[in-house]
Amino acid sequence: MEIIADPYQFQAWCASLDGAQALGFVPTMGALHAGHAALIRASRRRDERTAVSIFVNPTQFGPSEDFTRYPRPLEQDLALLGNEGVAVAFTPAAEAMYPAGDSVQVEVGELGERLCGASRPGHFRGVATVVAKLLQLAQPARAYFGQKDAVQAAIVRRLIDSLFLPVELVVCPIVRERDGLALSSRNTYLNPEQREAAKVLSRALRTMGEAYDAGERETAALLLIGRDVFASEPGARLEYLAAVDAATLLPVAAAGPGTLFAVAAFCGPTRLIDNAHIDHNGVYLL
Ligand code: AMP
Repeated sequence: MEIIADPYQFQAWCASLDGAQALGFVPTMGALHAGHAALIRASRRRDERTAVSIFVNPTQFGPSEDFTRYPRPLEQDLALLGNEGVAVAFTPAAEAMYPAGDSVQVEVGELGERLCGASRPGHFRGVATVVAKLLQLAQPARAYFGQKDAVQAAIVRRLIDSLFLPVELVVCPIVRERDGLALSSRNTYLNPEQREAAKVLSRALRTMGEAYDAGERETAALLLIGRDVFASEPGARLEYLAAVDAATLLPVAAAGPGTLFAVAAFCGPTRLIDNAHIDHNGVYLL
């Protein structure tokens, strides 16, 4: 596996691939787990070469967020990428991605202010900016993102469409622990009590999904059901629980194909997110 830190070298490596060798690209912030591995495997099944970036992007963290303490187990991450058959790991420094004097940013407008964007101002501007830079460097045939970050996936979809980027977006299902907790690099912050409380996110979503499967369509009723589940868990503080259109992120009154149930909650100081959606056949997916 090649390990490249310089953006121009990474760009040259990707550009040197023969046209018949499709490149799949998986952007990450490292602290890799089975959720990231699932994206890499999805690419390995479809693409001749897989590139993975590891970059803790400073512009998507707010001033009081966890940028400095975000886990960075680089050696371990590179070993995982090697074992997964990744062709190239891109590990740039912040100064290389944002050279002095760089002031270009990608604004996502209202879409970036909904759900997580409401409590994390500027977060999705940072995400869109770094994703645009990374896609521009790699110019992959396909880019793989996780359904875990459903708001991010909606914004990346909009970014790709808006800038006419010639890349296929592949959104992969959420990988979970056996008890339902969605895998996240931030789960390592949880102490045992917080880890126990964190099960409430998927439990609330599952309970809403069961009510949907039983025929309930009114999102007001479904959200009450979800909030009740949260009320039974004092170890978690709900930030939002919403039923929205998965593409526009605007609230919907009736749940159906394309509806996203999304949640953000704090367990201790750690903010966790999760979601479930109703697919285009009307099937509820956690
Ligand atoms: P991150 O390193 O947290 O920025 O995540 C990198 C990519 O992995 C994003 O597209 C995430 O949505 C995806 N991802 C993170 N956790 C999971 C998970 N539990 N299941 C599937 N994809 C995930």
